[in-house]
Amino acid sequence: MKLKLEADLHTHTIASGHAFGTVKEMAEYAAIKNLKMIAITDHGLNMPGGPHEYYFYKLIELPRFIDGVEILRGVEANIIDEKGNLDMPENILENLDIVLAGFHSDTGYQLGSVDQNTRALIGAMQNPYVDIIAHPGNPKFPVDLEKIAHAAKMTGKVLEINNSSFTQSRPGSLPRCTELAKAAARLGNLVAINSDAHNCFEVGDVNKALEVARIAGLKKEQIINTSANLVKDFINKTRKRNKKIS
Ligand SMILES: [Zn+2]
Ligand SMILES: [Zn+2]
Repeated sequence: MKLKLEADLHTHTIASGHAFGTVKEMAEYAAIKNLKMIAITDHGLNMPGGPHEYYFYKLIELPRFIDGVEILRGVEANIIDEKGNLDMPENILENLDIVLAGFHSDTGYQLGSVDQNTRALIGAMQNPYVDIIAHPGNPKFPVDLEKIAHAAKMTGKVLEINNSSFTQSRPGSLPRCTELAKAAARLGNLVAINSDAHNCFEVGDVNKALEVARIAGLKKEQIINTSANLVKDFINKTRKRNKKIS
């Protein structure tokens, strides 16, 4: 299977506090890499050194296209408790184009058992604003992968295969991510393959994640960011928002 992605739905800018590109630089490199769309998904409010909520209020004033690349205004929200609550107020989430949710250290979530982590992640899937579950195969926050795949299928949420989990962040992710990708292939989940770039040079770098998708037997139609139009259809259809993306 030869897969080409049109969109990278998980990227960070200097606003995250530990990333290095401006929005302009991220878009510029996305254009160089022939991407049609990127989502700017800086970390949620609890991330040390991360954005203040004013950042998200202004984010929605960004141009829709920069250097010919469509810009989705997003967030990578932090799950903060066992119920799956997020560190982002609803009045911001409803105005963003795309919302990722996941576990991160130092953002309020207390490391739990597999059961607790699984409940928290499934709780986050009940949130109508959440679109994508970020790096669910992270061994630091182990979850019941089969249950997660089932819950994502039931709630229509997208599971992420995160390339940086295999290259620099979250060591030990490969076996769990492969197992989850296989479950997703079997159950017909929606999947997104993202770079999680924290600098402009890594935008669209997804080779390892693509290999995992291929080994797992995921089909092109399951991977929403193989097409920018598919991404837009998905996010316009699946949850209430103040504005549709045209
Ligand atoms: Zn993350
Ligand atoms: Zn990230």
